Amino acid sequence: MSRRRDRRGRRLGAVAAGSCIAVALVAGGWFAAHSGGSMASPVPSIPGVAIATVPSTSPSGSPSPTPAPTAAPATVAPTPSFPIVDSCDPSSVPSAKPVAGTGSGKASTFALHVPIIEYHRIVPTAEAGNSLPGLVASPTAFSAQLDALKAAGWHTITMATLANDLDAHKTPPARTFVITLDDGWDDGYTYALPILERHGFVATFFVIGSRIDRQGFLTSDHLQALVAAGDEIGDHTMDHVSLSQKSGATLTYEIDAAAARIAQVTGYWPESLAYPYGGVNARAEAGVAACQGLRIAVIEEPTAPEKPAASQSPAASRAPGSTAKPTARAPLVSVPTALETWTNRWAVPRVRVWTTTVPARLVAELALLERA
Ligand SMILES: [Zn+2]
Repeated sequence: MSRRRDRRGRRLGAVAAGSCIAVALVAGGWFAAHSGGSMASPVPSIPGVAIATVPSTSPSGSPSPTPAPTAAPATVAPTPSFPIVDSCDPSSVPSAKPVAGTGSGKASTFALHVPIIEYHRIVPTAEAGNSLPGLVASPTAFSAQLDALKAAGWHTITMATLANDLDAHKTPPARTFVITLDDGWDDGYTYALPILERHGFVATFFVIGSRIDRQGFLTSDHLQALVAAGDEIGDHTMDHVSLSQKSGATLTYEIDAAAARIAQVTGYWPESLAYPYGGVNARAEAGVAACQGLRIAVIEEPTAPEKPAASQSPAASRAPGSTAKPTARAPLVSVPTALETWTNRWAVPRVRVWTTTVPARLVAELALLERA
């Protein structure tokens, strides 16, 4: 099965011990902050039970550069079985399997052209609550987009496999792409997973550490089921904060505690991270690089939702012999290429897909990216 094949045999059990450790980049003082292996957060501004600071509102404001306030003390989530571990040291969650990548470092010109597409919620609008419309794709639209990609010969790998390929200088087969879903809503299990499985696709789910098992979000059981199905669980920080606005122990905590929580729940240390709100700078990248196990990180596509217009399909306007003028609409892709390189692996661009994205246009855009 293609879903199993993508895991390369690494996801063999729910929880397994291991010994290989990826050697993450070490950037200055970050090493000291990340290598302690302590079992308690040293962050003075974050209570010992950081989950209590999570707002009861949804994290649906991803496109906003300003994170939602976290001031209101909330009800403590019923997750006492997962103590907060503020460390990316694999020994801090000994029941979890560390990443098996070499992490050897590959300073070269090797580059991949694997498009990464970005979703948030896959849910009918009627069930989306207060989530911003731009973050919601209907199951019907999601399915139609995947239908078109599958029909055009596209297939998926996870972010972890992409990191493997980048590390090994291996170019995956033509028409390979990555599906990502941010924020860890429970519709990732109820709606997205069956659609993915029907297409033989896998995805990387970027979850918020403190919201696992909270109402409306993926539960521990969901995450374990996703892993068993061949999907990857990635780090989306502990509290859904903009990492570019954090520093020191708080920045470390947001990255590391979420990674450790995922390891506690799934039995595997995450290998990829998505920056909430697209908040990335050199300091945030260094913090991510210093977390052992993380091997690649993605940013958000910040463009505004596209206007639906079937006549604007580039598949039509760019057909051989076509005399149609290129449309003036904003491109789906704001970056000229979809390159993954060793240099940019901590800030890899993604392509945001909307519920209004015309399937044929998505196929055409990914083809252009692959040839970029
Ligand atoms: Zn997010």
